[in-house]
Amino acid sequence: MQAWVIGNWKQNPATKREVEALLEDIVATIDSGLLNSDHKSRCQLMLAPSCIHLSAVSSRLQNTSILSASQDISAHSATVGAYTGDCSAQQMVDAGATWTILGHSERRQYHQESNDGLLQKLICALNQNLGAVLCIGETQAQHDSEQTIAVINEQLQVIRTLLEQPLAQQLDLEHTLTERLIIAYEPVWAIGTGKVPTVAEVSATHEHIKQEIARFAPDLPPVTVLYGGSVNANNADSFAASSMIDGALVGGASLKAESFLAIAAAFS
Ligand code: PEP
Repeated sequence: MQAWVIGNWKQNPATKREVEALLEDIVATIDSGLLNSDHKSRCQLMLAPSCIHLSAVSSRLQNTSILSASQDISAHSATVGAYTGDCSAQQMVDAGATWTILGHSERRQYHQESNDGLLQKLICALNQNLGAVLCIGETQAQHDSEQTIAVINEQLQVIRTLLEQPLAQQLDLEHTLTERLIIAYEPVWAIGTGKVPTVAEVSATHEHIKQEIARFAPDLPPVTVLYGGSVNANNADSFAASSMIDGALVGGASLKAESFLAIAAAFS
């Protein structure tokens, strides 16, 4: 299975000039031979800049092997409409994105994102042929009270509900999801904290996620499941060694070419 390493730049870097510098650093380091063509075929790289930089980043990535993604899309419309402050899936595609992150824990925390809104976003994304990287994961309190599996099952209900939509069969949604759905398991307590679960814990959770999705979507091939939460150049090898971990969603370490590409090399 091909691995995926996705850089989530969040609300970084601060300026256009810093975005350009980071991007040039990434492209130049790859061109200098850090990732050869074998590596590139084994690991798909993707960058998710903030919305304001998406168009410029996507243009620079044209003719490279790196894809670009948005960090979110509007839940209100796949196209246009009177939704001040929102950007639609169509606008993200027009800016060059082929994927979007959805349901990141920071969106769930600061914007009260719920399964209802995420279902609308998934529908908007798929309507515009935008792949979705759906983030799920438990908080520290939920982890400590052994609710991880219950939380994950509840968050995965959005996929089940999507497949139960009246038009799902007509649209051949299971087939569409094969190409356009990635799950990112990100324990909230591991994001940006330097704390990481053990590889065995992550592997067991990923196995559960794959089995749970297979339970309500039996025709779907095994879904790609990435791990996210304080992945860095030093620990990436250990996550990459597990056959249950199909890649990484990387926050902080994606803001330096050296660490981002070291993680990519680990998964190649
Ligand atoms: C993230 O926010 O998706 C993430 C994984 O962040 P970090 O790598 O910084 O923990």
